[in-house]
Amino acid sequence: MTLQTGSSDDTLSTFSNSSSRAVLAILYEGGDAAVNEPRLLGTIENKLGIKEWLEAQGHEFIGGLNSCCTYRSDIDCVALYKEGPDSDFQKHIVDAEVLITTPFHPGYLTRDLVEKAKNLKLCITAGVGSDHIDLNAAVDHRIQVLEVSGSNVVSVAEHVVMSILLLVRNFVPAHEMIERGDWMVSDIARNAFDLEGKVVGTIGAGRIGYRVLQRLVPFDCKELLYYDYAPLPAAASDAVKARRVEDLKEFVSQCDVVTVNCPLHEGTRGLVNAELLKHFKKGAWLVNTARGAICDKDAVAAALASGQISGYSGDVWNVQPAPKDHVWRTMKNPLGGGNGMVPHYSGTTLDAQARYAKGTKSILQNYLENKPQEAQNIIVGLGKYESKAYGQR
Ligand code: NAD
Repeated sequence: MTLQTGSSDDTLSTFSNSSSRAVLAILYEGGDAAVNEPRLLGTIENKLGIKEWLEAQGHEFIGGLNSCCTYRSDIDCVALYKEGPDSDFQKHIVDAEVLITTPFHPGYLTRDLVEKAKNLKLCITAGVGSDHIDLNAAVDHRIQVLEVSGSNVVSVAEHVVMSILLLVRNFVPAHEMIERGDWMVSDIARNAFDLEGKVVGTIGAGRIGYRVLQRLVPFDCKELLYYDYAPLPAAASDAVKARRVEDLKEFVSQCDVVTVNCPLHEGTRGLVNAELLKHFKKGAWLVNTARGAICDKDAVAAALASGQISGYSGDVWNVQPAPKDHVWRTMKNPLGGGNGMVPHYSGTTLDAQARYAKGTKSILQNYLENKPQEAQNIIVGLGKYESKAYGQR
């Protein structure tokens, strides 16, 4: 039976009085890498380091695999697939009280699944970015959604700066040339530039976007811009000398480099589409480590192929894992470069995994002990959005 305290801040205080709670963790198979590297905490093998801790308190830890995995009898997991009617997810979501997922190999909690999840009270995202949960359905069903805010924001900001540099400096084709055994400097240098003197702008100037701006300061860019419905405090924008541009088309038309650092929600899905790409400076570079679906897949590929943009880089895809024939794997600019795509790992360095595993445990512990949650981690509270980052409401 679920109890709800009568406190004014009941967002933080839903709990069950049954002693054993079912915690379902939909994780991915890390294979030999996870067996050999215990710091790969976000895998089914290493279970975020919480299985024994949870079981010692009499709770049930159910480890569910992602759909991309094949069953292995040598690992302690209960079933095969993330999705589909016979999947772990579908089977155990019915009884689970807590669901843990990661954004890297997400378990997609659709409204259909929310409706089957009669006991579900809490979703924890081990990481940052909870768009794989139908947040509106969670609001409607009074399921709380928390993430480990801040846990990997430095990891991503560093990846963004690296991605900007590798596009602007035309790094990937240069390295591929070396591996091929060739040496033709002019083929690379004809499309290589300095970041100094360029205009760089971020869509979203929250934890990651702001850290990107901070890290760009020493590069002596011509200007740093941001587009966000939430203006930065004056002291923060002054510290990095960033200027806010309120119209998105005007914003992109001023940028040599655009980096996307906002959450995926109704207001950002397909935000960078064919129409907006027409307003980019010809030959601009676009870096998206936020969420793949913020950029229209085909429009980006077409803009890159035509040279309207010179490069696209990031680690997030509209579907994860990305299908083998996903156009973003192989798309190129007219000179054969401009692709800096990698799998979703910028926010899951080993340093980040330690932080988000610790944060997941702390959220779980607060829940199990009926203690208040840190406000910054609450995306959806009881029946309402608590975060202002998932759209203007
Ligand atoms: P944050 O909440 O600190 O900042 C998000 C910012 O985006 C906020 O300032 C918000 O006002 C702004 N925003 C929201 N909608 C907007 C819109 N329509 N236009 C402009 N700005 C808008 O979040 P964060 O920690 O900076 O993370 C941002 C996102 O990055 C996450 O939601 C997640 O999707 C992604 N992320 C990716 C990885 C990765 O591994 N690739 C890791 C962590 C986070």
